[in-house]
Amino acid sequence: MDIYVNRVLNMKHIKAIGFDMDHTLVRYHSDKFEELTFYQSIKKLIKDKGYPAEIENFKFDFLKTIRGLVVDKNNGNILKVSLYNKIKTATHGTKELSYKEQIALYAGQNVDLSDPQFMSIDTNFSMAHTHLFSLLVDLKDSKPDLDLPPYVEMADDVTYAVDICHRDGTLKDIVVKNLDKYIILDPKAVEALERLRKYNKRLWIITNSDYKYTRALLDYTINPYLKDHKHWTELFEVTITLAFKPKFFTDKKIFLKVDPETGLMENFDAPIETGIFQGGYATKLQQDMKLAENEILYLGDHIYGDVMKLKKTCGWRTALVIEELDKEVQAFKSTKDISIEIDHLMDEKVAIEKKIDDLYAKEYEFGQDVDKQEVFAQFDKVEKLDKKIGTLIKTYEGHFNPFWGEVMRAGVEPSLLASQVERYACIYMTSVADLANYSPRTYFRPKKRKMAHEK
Ligand SMILES: [Mg+2]
Repeated sequence: MDIYVNRVLNMKHIKAIGFDMDHTLVRYHSDKFEELTFYQSIKKLIKDKGYPAEIENFKFDFLKTIRGLVVDKNNGNILKVSLYNKIKTATHGTKELSYKEQIALYAGQNVDLSDPQFMSIDTNFSMAHTHLFSLLVDLKDSKPDLDLPPYVEMADDVTYAVDICHRDGTLKDIVVKNLDKYIILDPKAVEALERLRKYNKRLWIITNSDYKYTRALLDYTINPYLKDHKHWTELFEVTITLAFKPKFFTDKKIFLKVDPETGLMENFDAPIETGIFQGGYATKLQQDMKLAENEILYLGDHIYGDVMKLKKTCGWRTALVIEELDKEVQAFKSTKDISIEIDHLMDEKVAIEKKIDDLYAKEYEFGQDVDKQEVFAQFDKVEKLDKKIGTLIKTYEGHFNPFWGEVMRAGVEPSLLASQVERYACIYMTSVADLANYSPRTYFRPKKRKMAHEK
């Protein structure tokens, strides 16, 4: 797969590359992992929050959600939002709201993500979240006698349940025991890392996972595919675990040194050297490694945790791994004919609308009599075209996600997620393996972006 460029990035100037681990260096079978999160979160809701046991009957369907959706906690709705924070698709629970219902409720309102009513679900790890919340909304509506809490409280309870599964080791313990089920093996990613080392790029890991989990995953995904090294610790100059990103990029926390054999830790006040650490912060790492901020590239998958804060405070260059991209690009290619047909029909529609405007001009501006039947006939044609276009758009979107369409687009505009990718990532790709296709000396340059008046 290709690497896509938002801003100029000259790899010759990059001396160190930091990698996030989960969903970046290490890829997950997301369908399996989200399914696990979904069912474990249900258990937490029942045990910790007193939800009725019948929610154990919920069935997980990975296709019912995509990344980048926004939860409207007050109304029990899930929203797909564009670059301009406009709502493009909305469901109440799992039921799609018609355009009329949507307008009646939101009246063209922009979604203000700083408003606690709205919650953006943008990590790879939280797709089970929207799915579970929408099923709870359905259940509350269909069975009022169950006395489920208000929507807003249910949304917070789901957040609690998903978070606690991630934090208390519930998910990690199961993943480590079933690595082949949850973790993707990707020899090409290891090839990419060794190629970078040949050009003396210094490689770092900065992960929020703990050392034990990090070691288990890297032993499994990297060691078997190394050609020039014996162990992943030889590849990485520094490995920082429990980094608490995004705070790692903004706050000053102490570094602890981790013993790779025992996992035991001790305080570490000296300049950072090769090895495994816990905690710490970005500016000390950069200073001790004697690098300028623009000589460091950081690769992650989470916009908020990995690149948004970093971009605002640190000045390191940024890259995002977006696992959906592969499917998205394939679907984009396979729908070319449909797109062309939609464009043709839109041209036809515009021509008829022009005819209608001319008929009105005859009457309004020149006082001529206009045959009303002719006007109605033209409106009829527009309506028929709208139906055809609507059907084609549904077919088009079905090539992406059958319920939500494209991840990176909301209608004709980029989706909120896509706009954040454009804003915060210098380059983006489907997986670390894509780096293997490019020389570590590559000069990444964006294409000239056409504005409306240039097209
Ligand atoms: Mg990650």
